[in-house]
Amino acid sequence: MIEIRGIRVPVSRDSRFLEQQIRRRLRLKQVPEYQILKRSIDARKKPDVYYIYSVGVTLPNESNVIQKLHDNNIMLTNRVEYRPPEHGKEEMPHHPLVIGSGPAGLFCALLLAREGYVPVLVERGLPVEERVQKVNAFFEGEPLDPECNVQFGEGGAGTFSDGKLNTQVRDKYGRIRYVLEEFVKHGAPERILYDSKPHVGTDLLVHIVKGIRKEIEALGGVFLFQTKAADFAIQNDRIVKVKLLHKGYETWVDTEQVIVAIGHSARDTFSMLYEKKLAMHAKDFAMGVRIEHPAAWIQRAMYGEGAAAGLLPAAPYKLTHQTSDGRGVYSFCMCPGGYVVNASSEEGCTAVNGMSYSGRDGTNSNSAIVVSVRQSDFENDSPLAGMEFQRQLEQRVFQEGKGKVVSQRFEDFCRNTPTTEFGVVKPQIKGNYTSGNLYSCLPEFMTGAIIEGIQTFDRSIPGFAHGDAVLSGVESRTSSPVRIERDENFLSNIRGIYPCGEGAGYAGGILSAAMDGMKVAEAVIARYSPKDSPTE
Ligand SMILES: Cc1cc2nc3c(=O)[nH]c(=O)nc-3n(C[C@H](O)[C@H](O)[C@H](O)COP(=O)(O)OP(=O)(O)OC[C@H]3O[C@@H](n4cnc5c(N)ncnc54)[C@H](O)[C@@H]3O)c2cc1C
Repeated sequence: MIEIRGIRVPVSRDSRFLEQQIRRRLRLKQVPEYQILKRSIDARKKPDVYYIYSVGVTLPNESNVIQKLHDNNIMLTNRVEYRPPEHGKEEMPHHPLVIGSGPAGLFCALLLAREGYVPVLVERGLPVEERVQKVNAFFEGEPLDPECNVQFGEGGAGTFSDGKLNTQVRDKYGRIRYVLEEFVKHGAPERILYDSKPHVGTDLLVHIVKGIRKEIEALGGVFLFQTKAADFAIQNDRIVKVKLLHKGYETWVDTEQVIVAIGHSARDTFSMLYEKKLAMHAKDFAMGVRIEHPAAWIQRAMYGEGAAAGLLPAAPYKLTHQTSDGRGVYSFCMCPGGYVVNASSEEGCTAVNGMSYSGRDGTNSNSAIVVSVRQSDFENDSPLAGMEFQRQLEQRVFQEGKGKVVSQRFEDFCRNTPTTEFGVVKPQIKGNYTSGNLYSCLPEFMTGAIIEGIQTFDRSIPGFAHGDAVLSGVESRTSSPVRIERDENFLSNIRGIYPCGEGAGYAGGILSAAMDGMKVAEAVIARYSPKDSPTE
């Protein structure tokens, strides 16, 4: 295939303009069949905004064609097709057990199922259809269910999200394409295969998760919902049994392969694993607040005043700053045209995050403004000290808000005074919220860095530090507070346990978590031979 890069198309022009560019660059009379390989937005000369395309074209005598063109942006290209490893030979006495149905657990189970390993997947929360009802009821004011919420339940933390599908992880094996194609197969728009910043939105994620489950079940895989992995039985440094808790009943199941894909919020399970002497250590992460501005302000700042801004989806931004005392403060998990969500999962604790629907057409745009947190900020050097630090700040916000999300105008935050009335920016929050004094709940190193960061970001996005910008908190679950150690075979210090995904400290985001799930499945596949169906 011939790849043509750097095709600039004004956002106001349609595909015919693109096709004429392709024909002209290849010096052809007719427009050839083509495939969009990549599309990004170039707004450096706003309000003139362009799409930058890379397309693929298949032609006879491709090398000759390229030689004649002398265009450095036209080259031969080959896409890497994903291939699972050869099956191993070791016998697997019992079915592999996957704990957690977030992207890591789900893609691990999918690959194991496709290769005939018939996985059993346990998930403490509900199937996604019931989970949606449960979470919406919570947003409407029903009490938190600590087993099924924005963090826990089928699909994992990413289900109620903006569904951004980008990652910094390098991929020379074609895993990214494999995951994205699976999303498209179950209802995501084709454009996620080529957009430089692909996203799907919560409304589509729900169906995608269910579709993947159905596929795993059709291949013999088994899902056990409302089932928590509560304890491990270990003999001679090897896992032999897992205790499952289901509606108050406990069962011990035999297994020698356990994939621990529990996410960054399973604090009870982290404590259990620590007691079981699974080697782990505290990991740096970031915490802060979520800030909201009218999406129109961001659109204007990112794409200018012209017509282009109206033709483009809600604009994203990425901001970063180093404070005078060396702390990193940056925007995280930005949700254009989205909502702030109450992402709590523990009683007596309040945590927020962000989500959007596929249309990204909410009134506000939001992002987390987070500050790097170091182990020296923790009370002690226990591997779980970071987790405790998160919990403490969440408890303070819970008390300040009496169980509701706490929101504060930026001006009041700077003055450490409670907000009594919001200004031109109205909070767009899923879940009950109240105006209050978020500043008083956070440590000084964090409030100082947040204020310095927001005032600095105002230089790139005018209005970012507007007094009426709304801050809500606390944004505490940006990544896992621990890393569970694993070796080159993806095994922990306890034989048969495979730490996996974001919770174990090996991923950050939906796509990288799914890829890590695939890597762990490959490790199991390369060592063991496939298993007969559990029903036989
Ligand atoms: C509101 C929100 C918005 C987000 N937005 C984005 C985004 O737009 N783009 C992006 O890339 N990332 C986003 N993220 C982050 C992303 O969701 C995570 O990085 C990703 O889901 C991690 O995948 P995982 O499979 O490792 O863990 P998780 O998705 O956290 O899944 C872990 C699963 O394990 C289950 N579990 C935990 N303990 C047990 C146990 N003991 N027994 C049984 N089951 C258990 C949990 O119920 C959960 O379903 C967002 C996160 C949140 C909370």
